[in-house]
Amino acid sequence: MRDLVEVAPGVHVATSRVYTTTSTVVVGAVGSCLVVDPGVTAREVDGLATTVRERGWTPVAVWSTHAHWDHVLDGPGLTGLPRWSGGAASTDPETLAAERDADPELARTGDAPAPIAALVAPYPRRAPDLLDWDGPAVRVLVHAAHARPHAALFLPDAGVLVAGDMLSDLEIPLLDLTADDPVGDYLAGLDLLASTGATVVVPGHGRVGGADELRRRLAADRAYLAALVSGSAGPDERLALPWLAQAHAAQLAAVGS
Ligand SMILES: [Zn+2]
Repeated sequence: MRDLVEVAPGVHVATSRVYTTTSTVVVGAVGSCLVVDPGVTAREVDGLATTVRERGWTPVAVWSTHAHWDHVLDGPGLTGLPRWSGGAASTDPETLAAERDADPELARTGDAPAPIAALVAPYPRRAPDLLDWDGPAVRVLVHAAHARPHAALFLPDAGVLVAGDMLSDLEIPLLDLTADDPVGDYLAGLDLLASTGATVVVPGHGRVGGADELRRRLAADRAYLAALVSGSAGPDERLALPWLAQAHAAQLAAVGS
């Protein structure tokens, strides 16, 4: 885990060397903080928790954007905190741990993986889509793109969208192929995220971007999906990564015409 970088007032992002995974820390006025998607190796998660405490912040909960193994990780500095998410996921911790242990990119680091968190619970609400916590306003955007459920966080005061596994500059849209309408669900998710009018986007994997970059990524993801349903790849440079080319082939076989 590299340094925590402040990308907007009170919003700090650390980036893992595994899949360019981001972890976001949202800090309130009195130092309470929310840790989003801590990852990925044990050393990185420990380092993140240590940095948070060194800065005088007090984590009050961990948020998981969705229940894929790289978004439900834990570490000694975070264990015991409430674990919040957009809703119950169907995948159990044993399955997630097995998927983590089979991951080639993680294995390549030679580092121990972080443990899978035991339980992820629905979040406390102040209003239907507003997180009830001791910090800045956090709108919870639950949708069915990529995973069900998948919950992005929008921080209206800072204009920041913590997007989870969407709107990446590095990864193509990765569909939930077990859904009845994976592409329809994905497009609805993109529309929901676009409706925030965010000026900073923090993807779960990739680089933080501003308003122009957010617009570019929305267009790129919609173009990818349009090409996919018509049975092609389109000119998407993200497909240069072999594992994404493989994921694309599987998506093409499932939903391409
Ligand atoms: Zn994911």
